[in-house]
Amino acid sequence: MKSLLLSLLLFSCFIFPEDNIVLVISMDGLRHDYPEKSQSGGFSLMSSQGLKAESLIPVYQSTTYPAHVSMATGVHPDKHGILHNSFYDKEKGLYSYSPEANWIQIKPIWAYLEEKGIKTATYFWVGSETAWNGIEITYSKFPFSSRVSEKTKIQQIIDWLSLPDNERPRLIMSWWHGIDSTAHKHGITNKKVSQSFAKQDQYLLDLINKIKSKDLWKKVTMIVLSDHGMTNISNLINVNEILKKANIKAKVSIGPAVGHIFLEDQNDLPNAVKILKQNKSLDVKRKNELDESLNLFHPTRTGDIVILTKSPNMLVSRKNSNPPIGMHGYNPKLNKDMEGIFFAYGNKINPIQIGKVKQVDVAPTILSLLEVDIPEYMEGKEITLN
Ligand SMILES: [Zn+2]
Repeated sequence: MKSLLLSLLLFSCFIFPEDNIVLVISMDGLRHDYPEKSQSGGFSLMSSQGLKAESLIPVYQSTTYPAHVSMATGVHPDKHGILHNSFYDKEKGLYSYSPEANWIQIKPIWAYLEEKGIKTATYFWVGSETAWNGIEITYSKFPFSSRVSEKTKIQQIIDWLSLPDNERPRLIMSWWHGIDSTAHKHGITNKKVSQSFAKQDQYLLDLINKIKSKDLWKKVTMIVLSDHGMTNISNLINVNEILKKANIKAKVSIGPAVGHIFLEDQNDLPNAVKILKQNKSLDVKRKNELDESLNLFHPTRTGDIVILTKSPNMLVSRKNSNPPIGMHGYNPKLNKDMEGIFFAYGNKINPIQIGKVKQVDVAPTILSLLEVDIPEYMEGKEITLN
């Protein structure tokens, strides 16, 4: 029986010697309308020859860590547990931009594929720097450094793609700078953001041309997406100051749009809710009042009180003498500026336009392209790409 299985396996390898490859590039903070600015770069090429979605709807809160982990797991932040770039867990303590993959409570796609014997590679993707519950990635670059340029990443991607069939990863995922830090600093409409975009657009074209020069587009499908959009803000709300004035002791875990308050004394709950509600820019919820559709309820990581705000407000935990002008994190159902991009190009892709897609749909779509079963725990659905 074993030898029969082996020969069947060898036979199937012989029939499909050229396995397809999926390459995913994430451009940080690239709002849905930015690619329209492309003159002659990678985005204008993908717009005419690839698939373009109207936009990509991010998870809430629409920040970098939850977004990337949702794209890698196919579930919302309340399931994978990465509620923001930093958060507090009542049992494990503080998480802050941690490279430790075991904070993620759902199996990331690279671990799912590696378990099936499919090689994967990441050049910076949240949660991919360390083994997830003992499952290693075949090729991974770490530690994360924002100083590594896209030029370096492109060379490594080409090197991975140039490996022999049996060593080459079939999924490559890479985080790129996008426009995030420039837009935070200068605001979304500033000329410097357009310049940052133009550079990314050119890098994307370089990558497309390098893959072409290797004659690999017949087997590579590339997805280019972003983690969130961006909007301009003008009002900071200092949550710690509000609580301190009322003499309420609490641990606060604050993102720009969602704040979690863990009270030291549960008897303070009614008073804390009353005090916070006096600020009309805050939507104040007790943990058990959270609407399920927000996907913000986690058993150990959601505060006793959760406060939500809209732009142009931003929650902070301390005074900030140099506040950002551009920000994200807001509820994507209420703020279209949070929507990002989704493009596909290459093998199996026709030049079409489709409607809006969701961030949780990314992982099932990758699995579908690789012709691997989509696990039931994924909340997203595969996006029809052709
Ligand atoms: Zn981001």
